[in-house]
Amino acid sequence: MPREFPLEKTRNIGIIAHIDAGKTTTTERILFYTKKIHRIGEVHEGAATMDWMPQEQERGITITSAATTCFWQDHRINIIDTPGHVDFTAEVERSLRVLDGGVVVFDAVAGVEPQSETVWKQADKYNVPRICFVNKMDRIGADFWRTVEMIKERLGAIPLPIQIPIGRESNFKGFIDLIEQQAIIFTDDLGTTSDRTEVPTGMEAEYEQHREALIERIAETDEVLTLKYLEGEEISKEEIITALRKATISGALVPVLCGSSLKNKGVQAMLDAVITYLPSPLDIDPPTGIDPDTDQEVVREVNDSAPFSALVFKIVSDPFVGRLSYLRVYSGTLSKGASIENSTKGKTERIGRLLRMHANHREDIDEIRAGDICTAVGLRNTFTGDTLCDAQNPIILESIVFPRPVIDIAVEPKTRADQDKMAIALNKLAEEDPTFQTRTDPESGQTVISGMGELQLEVILDRLFREFKVEANVGRPQVAYRETISKPAQAQGKHVRQTGGHGQYGDVWVKAEPNERGKGFEFVNAIVGGIVPKEYIKPVE
Ligand code: GDP
Repeated sequence: MPREFPLEKTRNIGIIAHIDAGKTTTTERILFYTKKIHRIGEVHEGAATMDWMPQEQERGITITSAATTCFWQDHRINIIDTPGHVDFTAEVERSLRVLDGGVVVFDAVAGVEPQSETVWKQADKYNVPRICFVNKMDRIGADFWRTVEMIKERLGAIPLPIQIPIGRESNFKGFIDLIEQQAIIFTDDLGTTSDRTEVPTGMEAEYEQHREALIERIAETDEVLTLKYLEGEEISKEEIITALRKATISGALVPVLCGSSLKNKGVQAMLDAVITYLPSPLDIDPPTGIDPDTDQEVVREVNDSAPFSALVFKIVSDPFVGRLSYLRVYSGTLSKGASIENSTKGKTERIGRLLRMHANHREDIDEIRAGDICTAVGLRNTFTGDTLCDAQNPIILESIVFPRPVIDIAVEPKTRADQDKMAIALNKLAEEDPTFQTRTDPESGQTVISGMGELQLEVILDRLFREFKVEANVGRPQVAYRETISKPAQAQGKHVRQTGGHGQYGDVWVKAEPNERGKGFEFVNAIVGGIVPKEYIKPVE
């Protein structure tokens, strides 16, 4: 069977952001412009949504890492959802492991926020090429250039604005496209029509300055262009785009765009940039892993006829379909009904159905090929992080590394008779989420659940009640060790108390070690909004 869709026209991306920066709104606009939903507002109303768990809708946050497919300019874009809340850092981790590129959304008023730093560092760890979208340009206090400066200063990246905003706050009208050398002025509320015009009067000098800076920066990344630039030769639009695409994929430059998702401005141009600058599965390093029989490293080619390999990056219990396993396929082809090896567990699995997830429906598909993302139904012994592969050509792909839980809560069922039911339910929930653990305390005999934060455990308890009908009493949360400070620099040399109690979102977690005098702990490194495993902080002997 011929390939349904060319691999070079596939993009697996994540929308990455600090909570409240506008990820949900931006994603919704993407689904609207790609015609996956027909009316703006559907996502928040919960009709067609990436945030489909009831807890998420009630809390207005995104927890699950669902993947959804849409089309833009002849390209298939698989959007892998990444949560913005610090308690779900592990969810971000698994998404980053399987996506090929990211759109980082910033709030133009707040700029780079603590969680943006955490996620940015995680994306660095997985070498994820990025573009930035400075959202909320319509808000009072919006400042595109300050945000660009913060991306440079706080994130240590080389941001390259490829647009400059026209107006700001309630006067935000559109932008100048520095590559196309024209202004885009929006002419309707839904952002579906716009005028393409000359650079507006009064903005010529600003435009010239930034266009020149753009050409210079891009020329620096390429030897041929450097020469041309130095000799004063014209660099064509195609040359600029090709060089910028290369520099974005290598991480040398980060294109920056502006807009207002809420006011429907700039989202289409951002989608164009996803296609133009972010990599296809063919543009990234081929997948590597270990042959479990020989322990030798193996590299797979990214094509349909190579032996099959895929990484499972999420397990979800779906109320309608049952147990769903989200797969990122790296090489080869998999058909529904096929038997497949789970090389991590050493077990054979059978693929019942293959589903492609759209925002508004699920589509049954017959096969899935290299570079694509889908969900499989029918896998019984497969968990997040496992590799599925061709039994004749085994490989265990590099897996996902999850941080350890930092908060414990003792739980007991309200009704004694529910004890076994609760144990089964908690084990099931732990299967879905590798950062959630459940155990029995050997001394007290109590059931203790652990996770990355209180919100995560609250969601678990909520699901225990809703999905398994077990009501539980909970003890006081035991937080590992947490200290709130506002700036990492302040952590240097500061003593940390062993604290329990409740932290706030945006708290700073620090790595600490016993100080020389043996009286306390000293911060040696601060991780803003990140999670520090318990063993980083040791009591003084
Ligand atoms: P998320 O937490 O990153 O998913 O953020 P949401 O998309 O839920 O947005 C958070 C809040 O910011 C909501 O009240 C949105 O209506 C608002 N918002 C999102 N985009 C914009 C924007 O472009 N301009 C303004 N003024 N508000 C926005």
